[in-house]
Amino acid sequence: MSEQVSFLVTKELGKLAKWLRIIGFDAKYIPASEKNQIVVCSLRENRIILTRNKRIGLRQGIRVVHIDYDDLMRQLRQVLDELGLKPDSNLFFMRCVLCNEPLREVKKETVKAEVPEYVFNTQDEFVRCGCCKRVYPVRESHRRSRWWKKYRR
Ligand SMILES: [Zn+2]
Repeated sequence: MSEQVSFLVTKELGKLAKWLRIIGFDAKYIPASEKNQIVVCSLRENRIILTRNKRIGLRQGIRVVHIDYDDLMRQLRQVLDELGLKPDSNLFFMRCVLCNEPLREVKKETVKAEVPEYVFNTQDEFVRCGCCKRVYPVRESHRRSRWWKKYRR
């Protein structure tokens, strides 16, 4: 990634948070709707707020992107364009979509009991979340082609 940025995503944009994680960004989801709580968290953790609430960010020193769209792909594009970010395809699917934790590569033989047999037999690379311990296969073809094509269109 060219620049280390991290996000604080407000509760109406849960899907956007998930997809930012999928493409490798640190995107913390905040279920709180209280404006001060959101602002304090963004300042304390130096996170850019992504929200549809136009009332957030009218103060100096807070970095906010006010999301204008309902469509997920347009939301993603707006965030990347407004901040001049380019996703690094090497980081795709390397963060837990549920916890926002970076995933670590694990040896295939250590996950045999944790993944379905079909997945184990057809995938060679696996990663694990340090927080929830979930194991994910690294789906090379999926991450390199399908989503990326969609994004670039
Ligand atoms: Zn996790």
